[in-house]
Amino acid sequence: MKVAQAGEHEMAIDVVCDVCCMSTRNGEGEPQYGTMHASWGKGSAHCGEEHELHLCERCFFSQVAEMKRARWLAVMFDEEGDAILVDDAYGRATKSAKEGGGEHC
Ligand SMILES: [Zn+2]
Repeated sequence: MKVAQAGEHEMAIDVVCDVCCMSTRNGEGEPQYGTMHASWGKGSAHCGEEHELHLCERCFFSQVAEMKRARWLAVMFDEEGDAILVDDAYGRATKSAKEGGGEHC
């Protein structure tokens, strides 16, 4: 969850992890967090609801590992099962620093 400073121009001063309740700020730097967001529309059981969760790096990748495990359980006896186990990029949208991406790190 975003922690805002009250005032005329409300600004997020920190982001607290919705799983472990720890600050996602590491020292003087900007908060580092992942976001899980959903905006449910017509035809869904949660129509009109919007959800947004903020996760620290540790909790984010713990959730990614759990999603990957759930996906693997669904197809573990298929050929796809083996591929999921070795997929280090599961859910990742860009290249890692090792692959030539992440120029800001
Ligand atoms: Zn956390």
